[in-house]
Order: sequence, then C-alpha cells, then structure tokens
Amino acid sequence: MQLHFLIDGKELHISGSIGISLFPNDGEDIWTLLRDSDIAMYHAKKNGRNNCEFFKPEMNRQAKERHSMEVALRNALKRGELLLHYQPIVNINGGKADGFEVLLRWQHPDDGLIYPIKFIRLAEETGMIIPIGEWLMRQSCLQIKAWQNQGYEVPRLAINLSAIQFRQKIIVENIVRILDKTGVKGHYLTLEITESELIENVEETIKTLQQLSELGIEISIDDFGTGYSNLSFLKRYQINTSKIDRSFVRDIPGDPEDTAIIDAILVMAHALGLEVIAEGVENEQQLAYLVLHGCTRFQGFYFSEPLPATEIEKKWKIRGYSLLTLIS
Ligand code: C2E
Ligand code: CA
Ligand code: CA
Repeated sequence: MQLHFLIDGKELHISGSIGISLFPNDGEDIWTLLRDSDIAMYHAKKNGRNNCEFFKPEMNRQAKERHSMEVALRNALKRGELLLHYQPIVNINGGKADGFEVLLRWQHPDDGLIYPIKFIRLAEETGMIIPIGEWLMRQSCLQIKAWQNQGYEVPRLAINLSAIQFRQKIIVENIVRILDKTGVKGHYLTLEITESELIENVEETIKTLQQLSELGIEISIDDFGTGYSNLSFLKRYQINTSKIDRSFVRDIPGDPEDTAIIDAILVMAHALGLEVIAEGVENEQQLAYLVLHGCTRFQGFYFSEPLPATEIEKKWKIRGYSLLTLIS
C-alpha cells in the first residue's frame, strides 16, 4: 500500500524503487554490490517505479552499452558525425513535392549509419536532444539557404521536435535567433510534434503555437491517431496539418480496422480545416485507397526514401521534384 501525505491541502504520494544485488553471486565486495543494486534500481524505475528488481548480469551489459553510446553521442555532434536526410512530401494536386521531412542520421565511425530509433530516446533522456535539435534546425536553415542560392524553388522543411525541446521556455526565442542568423523566413519551416505534447500545459501551448504561427511556421501533428485521442485540443490550437501514422497505412486496403481509422481521420481533419499527410506509403494499392478517400499529400518509400541533400539535388535537376521523377 502506498502512503500519502497531506501537505498544504494537497495529497502527495511517495513511492520507492528498489534494486537488489546478492552476495556472493553478484559481487564479492561492497562496491560491486552497490553498483549492481544501483543498476537494478534504474531498471525498477524504468519498469514503472514502485517495485523492486534483482540484478542480472544482462543488466550490466546493457548499462555498459548505454554508457558507451552516451559518450559516443556526446562526441558525435562535436566530431560532425550527425547528418540529415530529406524525404519528399508529395502533393498530387500540382504533382510535385511540396515539402521535405528532415530526418536525423548518425554516421558512427565503427557501426556505420545509425537510425534515430537507436539514439533519439537516449538523446532525450540525457538532455542532448537540446543541442542536437538546435544544430539540426540551424543546419536545415543553412540547407534551405544553400538550395535557394543554387536557384531551387525550396518547399517547406518539416523538422521533428521532441517534447523536451517543445517544452523549453526559450524555444521560440531560440528559433527566432536561428532564423535571424541564417536569414531564413519562418515560412520555410514546419515543426512536427506529437499529440502527447499538446495535452499538457494547454494555455502555455496555445501561446507557443500562436507565436510560431506569427513567424510563418506551420505545425504538423505527427503520428496522428496513436496518441491520447483527446480531440478537443485540435480546435483550440493553431495547427495546420496532421500526419496519419504509418502503422495505419501499412495494412490498407485489406485491414477493415485500419481503413475505418483512416476514413475517420480524413473526415475529421477535413471538417476541422486541417491538411492531412499519409506517412509510410509503400505501394500503389495504399496510394489508390488514400486518394479515393480524399487524401492529397503523401510520404513514403513508394515515392522516395529519405536521401542526403546531394541525392535530392540530383533528382531536382532532372525534372524538378515532380511525381514522375519520384516514381520512375
Ligand atoms: P517519424 O517522424 O514518424 O518519421 C518517419 C519515419 O518513417 C522515418 O524513419 C522514415 O524513414 C520512415 N519512413 C518513411 N517512409 C516510409 C515507408 O514508406 N515505409 C516505412 N516502413 N518507413 C518509412 P526514421 O528516419 O528512422 O525516423 C524514425 C523516427 O525518429 C521519426 O519518426 C521521428 O520520430 C524520430 N526522428 C527522426 N529525426 C528526428 C529528429 O531530428 N528529431 C527528433 N526529435 N526525432 C527525430
Ligand atoms: Ca515526423
Ligand atoms: Ca510518424
């Protein structure tokens, strides 16, 4: 049973997470035992807190791997190992890419190209997402400038913003500084945030989104449909686009539940005046279903994988970023 305390009229709960290591199996001296129980305690916290975990040698290996990855990630930014790929967002009205999503990659000196699924969580947990996010935004703006200087008609770049970045008090200030320094207008940026970021601190969020909108920045809700399904926030916020998560697109048109969800998202988003982008479109059948049900913007391997800037430029040179270039 959890005890609770009444302090200043508020009910506060305290829970404990306990890590246990056993002598002599887990260690023969106090320092080893303490280290191992500490590792086990972190596992207890990670598994929902308020419970206990016994140390297992496997945990030590994971802790070591995590530590070496953390050190490597800290150096990655300094050593220029992070890079950006760009994936076209295609609009069938007009028949070309009207945006690119910026996706982070890590060129690890030993392990090769690492995808964000392997390191974004760690970057968030260690706070490194803040300097990485700022670097990414500056780099994206510099890329816009570079493409403009080469004469390309650059569409908006969509940048993923993690909850930790979004909740920073100085997020708008930081973005304004980067835009000023690089000479790029906010009209060239979309920020992708997830639903869960929108349900906390509603008044503060309304203000932030309003300030971003005044800068010309658009807001996209990422992984739409996977979050809290509290739809009332959609009305209150300055949001332009929702992105249907690729988990719903994967099995259409065969899966009746997914098609029902997609139909519902499209109807609702359009009623609210939101644009919709379907993510993870990999084949013609998925595309045909989405088009038939009123979706006009798409992203996925069917059109193009995320590519480095130089590859994007090659495609651009052929026939502009038209659908024909993308599918051929
Ligand atoms: P996301 O925002 O949902 O990004 C789309 C992901 O779907 C990308 O994976 C992209 O490569 C992948 N994708 C695109 N088209 C297809 C397709 O047709 N089929 C399949 N199976 N996958 C497709 P990626 O680049 O590995 O990124 C994974 C996630 O990591 C992103 O999901 C996003 O949440 C996060 N992420 C990526 N870059 C950043 C970043 O700069 N900052 C933050 N905070 N998160 C990022
Ligand atoms: Ca995204
Ligand atoms: Ca997504």
